[in-house]
Amino acid sequence: MKRKPWFATAWLGGCSGCHMSFLDLDERLIELAGLVDIRYSPFLDVKEFPEGVDITLVEGAVANEDHLRDLLTIRARTRILAALGDCAVTGNVTAMRNLFQVEDVLGRAYRECDVARGVPGGNGNVPKLLDRVLRVQDVVAVDRFLPGCPPSANAIFEFVMDALAGRARPAKAARFGS
Ligand code: SF4
Repeated sequence: MKRKPWFATAWLGGCSGCHMSFLDLDERLIELAGLVDIRYSPFLDVKEFPEGVDITLVEGAVANEDHLRDLLTIRARTRILAALGDCAVTGNVTAMRNLFQVEDVLGRAYRECDVARGVPGGNGNVPKLLDRVLRVQDVVAVDRFLPGCPPSANAIFEFVMDALAGRARPAKAARFGS
């Protein structure tokens, strides 16, 4: 028997708003679950991205070394990779830190806050930030783009249905944030 397409979502440098919009599919999540086999997502307790995924929606920009490693793995194991939302497509909010030096960002976001909270400092548990935040397409080939901050549930549903049906979509991404 032919297996259902394997489906995944992944969360890089984003606020999770795109995943919240995905959850807004509401009862259509049940419809989607009937059409695909959801193999990996922040909503599942799966630690390793599996081989042989048919469609992956990637939220967020590439901001640190963990994102970079995860995105390369996802690309190698996914047939159709889709950039979900403006952070993935253009860099958007996540790329605003490109206006500053990494050390200044770390100092402001972690060290100063640690001092203010009376926590002895540093950022030892933070994955190493890249010098610049990158769009998904700056790192790997992207097959489909769904802009929006976040894209609406309706847009996500149509987008996934099109991908499942193999219907063509414009593959052009905006250049902001590059
Ligand atoms: S595109 Fe908007 S909603 Fe989606 S992760 Fe970025 S900031 Fe959040």
